[in-house]
Amino acid sequence: MDKKDGFLLNSYARFENSFDYGKGSKLYDHSGKEFIDFTSGIGVVSVGHGNRQLSEAISSQAEKLIHTSNLYNIEPQRELAKRIRDLAGFDLYSFFANSGTEANEGAIKIARKYGQLKKRNRYKIITLKHSFHGRTLASLKATAQIDMHNSHFGPFPDGFVYAETLSEIPHLVDEYTAGVMIELVQGEGGVEALPVNQVQSLAKELKEKDILLMIDEVQTGVYRTGEFLASNLYGIEPDIVTLAKGLGGGVPIGVVATKLHDIFQPGDHGSTFGGNLLATSSALKVLEILNIEKKSGELNRKIALFDRKLEETIAKFPRVFTKSVGAGLMRGIGVVSSIAVADIVKEANREGVLLVKAGRNRLRFLPPLTVTIEEIDKGFERLHNALNNITT
Ligand code: PLP
Repeated sequence: MDKKDGFLLNSYARFENSFDYGKGSKLYDHSGKEFIDFTSGIGVVSVGHGNRQLSEAISSQAEKLIHTSNLYNIEPQRELAKRIRDLAGFDLYSFFANSGTEANEGAIKIARKYGQLKKRNRYKIITLKHSFHGRTLASLKATAQIDMHNSHFGPFPDGFVYAETLSEIPHLVDEYTAGVMIELVQGEGGVEALPVNQVQSLAKELKEKDILLMIDEVQTGVYRTGEFLASNLYGIEPDIVTLAKGLGGGVPIGVVATKLHDIFQPGDHGSTFGGNLLATSSALKVLEILNIEKKSGELNRKIALFDRKLEETIAKFPRVFTKSVGAGLMRGIGVVSSIAVADIVKEANREGVLLVKAGRNRLRFLPPLTVTIEEIDKGFERLHNALNNITT
């Protein structure tokens, strides 16, 4: 057995890198080598590494008070819930968890309770092919990638139905359907953005049938697609939204937010750590920083530049790439089947730019939302070097 991970369980196929510190979109390993981070810890480090404003907010909160039980009022938690509602622009009431999968578990519980109490025996949740909703048992079963439902972990919770396409969803609705859970831009599934008009007509149809629209914004949320929520970009007001990744800037936090204000009673749901002072005050600072980025036009400028760079890359390497996909700073480019995405990621890593794979054949870009023009230029220059090494 491979014991290279010492006493860690063997759950990741890791790269060799081990990072020492970071600044903005740059990471430095223990030998001092610099890397441009176009992964941001898979969409987490939204305000960049070593962000002074965030680290000061974290340390001053840590000095004051890190954690009290949810049995007591937690002021930054209340403030954050209000901020989420205000930025979303429609009524949302929040429950705070610690991760994306946990936020989705909360969403599933809300949909089931609503379906069973208000609608009698509705419990099924429809999800979409290639989706990814997390690793805990219900979120994993909600994930419509059957090969991930390893039977060793069974039996799984029941009641999930998988649609091949968005337009198939209405045909799968039956008297037991409580909700439909989708990502507007599928992250792990290939950075595929769903068509806006189809999403809007699905939202309308579900509303007419009083079936809950549940949008998993764990990856798309918190300005990743250019708006606070991808739901804002799509012009929809879902019944349930989940957030996590970018919200804490690296401090773990998850949220399930819903229009259904009265759905839970004390005892229905809970979390020891969820929404503690440290996590929620970090998230408040992240939102403050990103709101300024958005309002000043900086975020949109970076998105436009990133878009141009992706198109230039495709034009320069037409035998490697097909098309660009995604939205905002959640982007991917299709790689031709004869070239392994993993080989590009590996060579790019050697050249000093970090990227990840998505789906079967997509190269994924998730830079910090505060990425600078210099970092974008440098990252693409290194990617082009890597591609030249591979193709010549
Ligand atoms: N939902 C989506 C859309 C995700 O991209 C992820 C993680 O990649 C999750 C849920 C699970 O989040 P976490 O790893 O924080 O549990």
